[in-house]
Amino acid sequence: MTVAKHRIEGFRVHVVHVPAKATHSHGSGDVSGINAALLELSTDTGLTGWGEASPWPVFTGTVEASAAALHTHLRPHVLGEDPVQVTRLMHVVDSVLVGHPEAKAALECALLDLSGQIAGLSIAEMAGGISRDEIELSFSVANPDFDADLDDVARLWEDGVRLYKLKTGFKDHAFDLMRLERLRALYGDEIGLRIDYNQGLAAHDAIRIVRDLEAFRPDFVEQPVKRHERAALAAITQAVDVPIMADESVFGVVDAVEGAHTRIADIFSLKIMKSGGIRRCLEVAAIARAAGIGVYCGCMFETSIAHAAGTHLAAALPELTLGCEFYMSAYFASADITDPKLPVSDGKVRLPQGAGLGVRPDPDALARHRLELLDRQ
Ligand SMILES: [Mg+2]
Repeated sequence: MTVAKHRIEGFRVHVVHVPAKATHSHGSGDVSGINAALLELSTDTGLTGWGEASPWPVFTGTVEASAAALHTHLRPHVLGEDPVQVTRLMHVVDSVLVGHPEAKAALECALLDLSGQIAGLSIAEMAGGISRDEIELSFSVANPDFDADLDDVARLWEDGVRLYKLKTGFKDHAFDLMRLERLRALYGDEIGLRIDYNQGLAAHDAIRIVRDLEAFRPDFVEQPVKRHERAALAAITQAVDVPIMADESVFGVVDAVEGAHTRIADIFSLKIMKSGGIRRCLEVAAIARAAGIGVYCGCMFETSIAHAAGTHLAAALPELTLGCEFYMSAYFASADITDPKLPVSDGKVRLPQGAGLGVRPDPDALARHRLELLDRQ
């Protein structure tokens, strides 16, 4: 082993809450803010790296569990270590803690942020290079008050946003069809419409419902049924023409391998919070590529720290054609807490510049939104 030039000597977890501008509704419940655990690693050479765990309780877990996983269970395995030993350290934490992919995503991101600063490369460059430095942005239409959503869409249309994902299944089928009809009538073929049920349909009735949507030419229909209803999801994929996307049903590489074998969906939604980091998402993407399954870059309710990590992932993926949904910090949260802010313009997220992650929390914004600091020495 070579002698480490940098040693991790600081490990702090900042638990933050950033309120939303408006509540978003989904097939799995309402969300009115971002709850995240931000990990700050520092080295004996004066470098600081950041990562984020943003769980969603109905989807992956809780912020309390993420903070405890980082602070209590992962911290002892990271302090004193060389931050460029990413694969070995992530292997160690996988062996001492089952699950908790968001906490592992936060740790991996902070290690990659440090490694990039040491190497003088961005995270996307370290992931093999930059296939694109801007990614088309999809905004989620998820307000129970559809008139408010129409106002949002009109405003975002002026900003150049052309992709809109309707969150469906939280009210009734007639409401969902009405919203699709209105948006298609108002914006014609210029608008890209997507649909996400967040597991909201009954498996025994899903094919009939999804077939009704096809008249509105959605790009895809995401996760119509429950996470564990894998056979039903594969049957829907086979029965309908519109591409079906697996989100809750495909977390990491094990789900992806099984999902590729059973053709559970036409597209996988990649999320660093599900897979446990950028490199695990690249592994899921490789499985998808081998199986002829498309990929898309989704997210949880995140600050710009996790969005930036997702943007590096998206930038490194040559086959990404469906865009991403890193809109939270620009259009959902009441504040973007990083400096610089995540670059969003003309309907696109742009790759942050500089070595490593390229963004870090603004100290004042962090202090304003912090609920708790875990920093046991
Ligand atoms: Mg989804």
